[in-house]
Amino acid sequence: MRFKVIVRVRPLSAREKLCGSQHVVTVESQNNIAVTNIKVPEQNAGDSRERVRRFAFDYCFSEDATQDQIFETVDKIVCTSLKNRSHSCVLAYGQTSSGKTHTMMGFPHDPGLTPRLCRRIFTCFESGTLQEQSEKVKVSVSYLEIYNEKVADLLSDKCNGSEKPLRVREHPKRGPYVEGLSQHVVSTDVELLKRLESGTNKRRVGSTATNPRSSRSHSVFSICCNGVKLHLVDLAGNERAGSKGYGPGRFREGANINKSLVALGNVISTLADHSKTSSVTRNKFVPYRDSVLTWLLRDTLQGSSNTVMIATISPSSAFYSETVNTLRFGQRAK
Ligand code: ADP
Ligand code: MG
Repeated sequence: MRFKVIVRVRPLSAREKLCGSQHVVTVESQNNIAVTNIKVPEQNAGDSRERVRRFAFDYCFSEDATQDQIFETVDKIVCTSLKNRSHSCVLAYGQTSSGKTHTMMGFPHDPGLTPRLCRRIFTCFESGTLQEQSEKVKVSVSYLEIYNEKVADLLSDKCNGSEKPLRVREHPKRGPYVEGLSQHVVSTDVELLKRLESGTNKRRVGSTATNPRSSRSHSVFSICCNGVKLHLVDLAGNERAGSKGYGPGRFREGANINKSLVALGNVISTLADHSKTSSVTRNKFVPYRDSVLTWLLRDTLQGSSNTVMIATISPSSAFYSETVNTLRFGQRAK
């Protein structure tokens, strides 16, 4: 697996500014980012609780970065991967309100990665060899949501919130799949975008306004292009169970979200170890089956696949520890 990590800092929100939050994140170069813990006094720098933590990643984008710039970076990786017939996976990881959905979906006037990649997919092969160009591009799409380790089909006509969760199974040759998940053949980018829109509208919202279900669930938009898979994943918020936003009745929910994200972290770091070590020790067990998410993404995380993780963070001093957690997660792939 080839793994690239992109960090994106969002601007300080109006509310954060009003609350007097300080801006504590600095993109120092294309590859480096620094986070300052304002609770540690400056004269104590060198203390075990370091005041400034620095992290290195493949790409770091400050709050000034446009959707276009993020797309350009991801597009190169995804398109090259498709042309080489390697699966790929783009994951947005971070706490709730850090900018995952903004990055993956955006707004109609300023679309994010998923709609941009939908438009791109049909032209991706155009610059390829003549043989690739003459080949008709066959595209199909599916869209699912994982909530409390249960899978719902966002493109099914029957998707109304009360249907039974779909079962995840394994095909002896084709690997893990969701039984009964609807697959839709599309022949133009407009059709593909319509599917994206209809599924996104169906993404359910939880009981209260402060606890939208969409931030507690993982959504996986999957495009199959000439047999090559591309998964675009908006992950659930990575805040810990018990932290802000988790009411007492949400304990199970929090535990399950953690389960998927913990499993993802374990899979990624095991795969990173594999690529560092010799083939003799490469047989270390990869715990794909520990969560529905990792099991379904298995094929796009292993082998010659290309995975891009976009770690989204808030620049606010109020979220210092969440930000450091997100950046540490991103480092697990190294
Ligand atoms: P998440 O999906 O991680 O919970 P959102 O994407 O919904 O977070 O972002 C929270 C808020 O911050 C939204 O109002 C969104 O429009 C805004 N936002 C996030 N990232 C950016 C950005 N890079 N530039 C401008 N606004 C952003
Ligand atoms: Mg979101």
